[in-house]
Amino acid sequence: MSSPAKPAVKTYQNYINGQWVPAANGETFPVYDPSTEEVIAHVASSSAADVDKAAKAARAAFDSGAWPATTAQDRGRILFKIAGKIRQNLPMLAELECRNTGKPIVEAEYDIGDVATCFEYYGGLANKVTGNVMPVPANALSFTLREPVGVAGQIIPWNYPLLMAAWKLAPAIAAGCTCVLKPAEQTPLTAMEFASWLEEAGVPPGVVNIVNGAGEISGAALVAHPQVDKIAFTGSAAVGKLIVKSAADTLKRVTLELGGKSPNIFFADADWEAAVDGALFGVFINQGEVCSAGSRVLVEKKIYPKFVEAMTEKAKRIKLGPPLERDTKMGPLVSKEQYDRVSTYLEVGKKEAKTAIGGGRPKTFEKGYYVEPTIFYDVDNSARIAREEIFGPVASVIPFEHEADAIRIANDTPYGLAGAVWTRDIYKAFRIVKSMRAGIIWVNHMQPTYVEAPWGGYKQSGFGRELGPWGLEEYLETKQVFVNLDETPIGWY
Ligand code: ADP
Ligand code: MG
Repeated sequence: MSSPAKPAVKTYQNYINGQWVPAANGETFPVYDPSTEEVIAHVASSSAADVDKAAKAARAAFDSGAWPATTAQDRGRILFKIAGKIRQNLPMLAELECRNTGKPIVEAEYDIGDVATCFEYYGGLANKVTGNVMPVPANALSFTLREPVGVAGQIIPWNYPLLMAAWKLAPAIAAGCTCVLKPAEQTPLTAMEFASWLEEAGVPPGVVNIVNGAGEISGAALVAHPQVDKIAFTGSAAVGKLIVKSAADTLKRVTLELGGKSPNIFFADADWEAAVDGALFGVFINQGEVCSAGSRVLVEKKIYPKFVEAMTEKAKRIKLGPPLERDTKMGPLVSKEQYDRVSTYLEVGKKEAKTAIGGGRPKTFEKGYYVEPTIFYDVDNSARIAREEIFGPVASVIPFEHEADAIRIANDTPYGLAGAVWTRDIYKAFRIVKSMRAGIIWVNHMQPTYVEAPWGGYKQSGFGRELGPWGLEEYLETKQVFVNLDETPIGWY
């Protein structure tokens, strides 16, 4: 089951106004396979000039021409055509995503399937946007029109590259917006392959533009651009704060999905095997590079020693390996930068708590940014490894006394993206559901994500919601219309 022959090293340009164009300065940057540390592609390295070109193309496509003339049905059909292309090319996209991110191929296949499902969902939703009629007095008619926000700047992370692009582009297209997408510099490849089908799917030039480059340069230029109406961002809390500050200058609408330090709570009455699996799956899926990772594992004291032991035993069986091998359960981290960041936390964790398993680089690999699944226990909730998002395969196990204690610890965090609770007691389960200050709660599971259901955080995990009708809302304005039905003059003067 070893990987097929290495594909050629391609160079990808930007996709602006329906054309492939190099960066204005002619520069490119290398993109890596994190399992081999080899360069697998080169991509246009954009500056403010390229972002300006893309923003102007998006502006022009929004203000005039083919896009404003499309019907909601047309936009829905375009989204279904895009979904069809993705399904048709699923093996190629999954392999490319796998090579570029280091995630296991089986997970990459799920991701690309979800990408297609997302375009289908918003394809179906496009012509179901309706306004309201308000019950004003009989001499008037009052109603709302739902209109697209305009030009959307969309900045996405590297953990689910094409899926994050889909979460942003699909609702924007459904709403009738035009877009400038800035993929993460580590993982732009699937988005660029995707761009090559847009014309055939019927997307007019300028409606979807994709500009590559460093966040601090091209991302920042997009946030500052005066002709962009909205920024949708998924990424770190630190960059989210910079974006809010910069977007204030032009008063852009902003939606943010930031990090988390999500609690995964286990009571003594939980189904044992499912709970142990759920604790591991919650934090080690996608190498732990998940914004909703259950990185704080809260365990009732009654079962605490046994639970840590069971987690540790099962974690020994997690197969780290080359991402393209079908039985691999964890690949390398996405980049050297992320590997270094996580390694620093491993050293912090060893001082702050006890190590049950892991804590470094597996000895079996000469190359690649692999990190062992790591479980720290006896972690105090005030420790750095309990407060800061690590974004790697690192679990912090924290004991708790009783229900109120669990809730207190769960909510004692600046974040509020997600949380989960495992118990057979439905009274307790729903009390916890209501008590947790987070945007997504799972009961007896952690991580399943459906396009139909809203996704987003409380507190410093951001604001706004993606997916479902909520995701579409964020790309719509509401226009209130008053119609006077009474012909008599106002008679005020
Ligand atoms: P990480 O450091 O883990 O890569 P980031 O939040 O920095 O996470 O990156 C998420 C996305 O934000 C990427 O597309 C990145 O290029 C972009 N980005 C980074 N810094 C900025 C910035 N100052 N302004 C706008 N976008 C940025
Ligand atoms: Mg960064």
